[in-house]
Amino acid sequence: MQQGTNLPKVGSYNRAVVLEAIQASDGISRVQIAAVTGLTAQTVSVIVRRLLEEGLVVEDGSAPSSGGKPRTILRVEARAGYAVGVHFDPQELSFVLADLAGRPVARLHQPVRPGARPDTVIRQMATASRRILREAGVPDAKVLGVGLACPGPFDGAGVMVSPPRLPGWDRVPIEGLLREYTRFPVTVDNDATAAAIGERWAGIARSTPSFAYLYLGTGIGGGLFLDNQVYRGRSLNAAEFGHITVEPDGPECYCGNRGCVEAVCCPSAIEAAMRASGAGGRSDHADHADHAAICAAAAAGEPRARRVIERVAGRLADAAVSLVNMLDIDLLVLGGPALREVGEIYRAVIARAVSGRTLARRLHAVRVETSPIAADAAAIGAASLVFHATYAPRLGTLPSRQM
Ligand SMILES: [Zn+2]
Repeated sequence: MQQGTNLPKVGSYNRAVVLEAIQASDGISRVQIAAVTGLTAQTVSVIVRRLLEEGLVVEDGSAPSSGGKPRTILRVEARAGYAVGVHFDPQELSFVLADLAGRPVARLHQPVRPGARPDTVIRQMATASRRILREAGVPDAKVLGVGLACPGPFDGAGVMVSPPRLPGWDRVPIEGLLREYTRFPVTVDNDATAAAIGERWAGIARSTPSFAYLYLGTGIGGGLFLDNQVYRGRSLNAAEFGHITVEPDGPECYCGNRGCVEAVCCPSAIEAAMRASGAGGRSDHADHADHAAICAAAAAGEPRARRVIERVAGRLADAAVSLVNMLDIDLLVLGGPALREVGEIYRAVIARAVSGRTLARRLHAVRVETSPIAADAAAIGAASLVFHATYAPRLGTLPSRQM
């Protein structure tokens, strides 16, 4: 849990620390908040009183305490605010309406018409965002904003800069256009970073200080939380896990590097590996299988498909070992659509490598888990971007780091 500071100038930071402590718990007392945040009982009491007045937090029964009178339990008031999360995948738009507790209360999926112009797709996002709010009966006054998770890279002003899998989307000011079309505040982020924030907010990484999220989709990306802070890097493009070299003589990658994780492990590479695995023998239908069919076959135990997936998982595991050695994290979360059906194969191979081949393995375990919210992680993450931008404690907002 993040520590607060009892200095007078940092009220809004402490408020976010307290709200995050309440959000991350399944009910917590004022005394427990003081214990986990390091704030004084008086500071906690003042902040909680204000949060109760604003309706962001409610008192919800009481719990027995050792000795003294029972302690009042506090929870986030889930219906106090909502956010729409949009995940823009080149093939599909996913929408999630989430309440303040990070729980999805409605979902919507729409295909993206192949070759559609950026302006058409952004208008589609706005229309669908309005529709999901209308159908759930949420008034505009309760909408904190729209979060958008989409493929990077970006510049610092929410402009997409030549995303490799989206020709025609160079220099599109997607954040500004979506704000104009929805008339809500819009927060945009890299899809893998958004999924990591969703995982921290509503998934498996709740109250885990340091973890990495590996996103396996059409491409391969990553997100990072280090010491309770999301880490975005100089230009929102940190944690590009997919571009670690795992085969020095491997294929050239569009990024300029060679033998990248993405070039070796993405769905099209898996399809090519499947064809190559049959070379020299009789050709059969497996040589023409697409990625989904290969995953289904591997999950059903078909030996050739399983070997291909395990070999790819092994290359990912090589990169995961480097990542764990470099960052000394507690948890590695695997998510994204490419894991459908084969998540457990990837998880087992990567867990074995991380528990057997990292420097700190005798000091602490590093968990490797598949995301429980994988199918919608990026959209839930996009919604929680809004809450995160609104409420999450950030040291950058402090006048100085006097802790
Ligand atoms: Zn690359």
